[in-house]
Amino acid sequence: MRLLVLTDIHANLSALEASLTAAEGSWQRLICLGDVVGYGPDPNEVTSRIRELGAVTIRGNHDKAVAELMPTDDFNPVAKAAVNWTRSQLSNENLGWLAGLPQGPLEAEGVVLVHGAFQDEDEYVFTPSQALEGLLDSTSQVTFFGHTHHQGGFSYQDPELEVLSLHPRTNESRCALRLEDSKRYLLNPGSIGQPRDTDPRAGFAIADLENHTVEFWRVPYDIAGVQKRMRDAKLPEPLVLRLQVGR
Ligand code: ZN
Repeated sequence: MRLLVLTDIHANLSALEASLTAAEGSWQRLICLGDVVGYGPDPNEVTSRIRELGAVTIRGNHDKAVAELMPTDDFNPVAKAAVNWTRSQLSNENLGWLAGLPQGPLEAEGVVLVHGAFQDEDEYVFTPSQALEGLLDSTSQVTFFGHTHHQGGFSYQDPELEVLSLHPRTNESRCALRLEDSKRYLLNPGSIGQPRDTDPRAGFAIADLENHTVEFWRVPYDIAGVQKRMRDAKLPEPLVLRLQVGR
């Protein structure tokens, strides 16, 4: 079973469609680690598309905030403005679907899904010390996480925790990780709709556990078109500008 793993789509339909086109024919089951909406201009289109694709989806903090399942006191003003705009745009049906998304960790198709950290869905995992607990506690060899919008990951084989560089070069579209039976993995497929690791291309992963490989992809998309829709919607300018620099 080949799994297409997406996260942090953030209502960016162009990035989602470019990724689906690039990955066409390479996967059988779709997995989404949350933040389907927030920041981007296409919340209904992206939510409907993910629903229609039958993705196994867990909630992200933006999905929760939009569905009023968490306060936005911790959100910066720009993120808060995007949450309010997104809520005003969503159909009741899509809002209801987002509100009903399960919380990670969720075990599906032989992997574990979390939005942020294994112990706390809203926590960020950037460093080895933040990754350690998830690597030790997860019920699966491979755990996928999102939330940081950084493609990459960690592996663990007692006593060594390794930071993995899993990022295709600028002139390449993918790189592959070979899974070793003796190691555990915590992997971030990268953000579809708002990358923050200095590569503005949409990021995702394709996992093939039977063949012990996970591929990490980057795909270009029409950033200018998305920026135009964001400006037309009067979404905050810092959110518009960050798409082209990828941070
Ligand atoms: Zn996010």
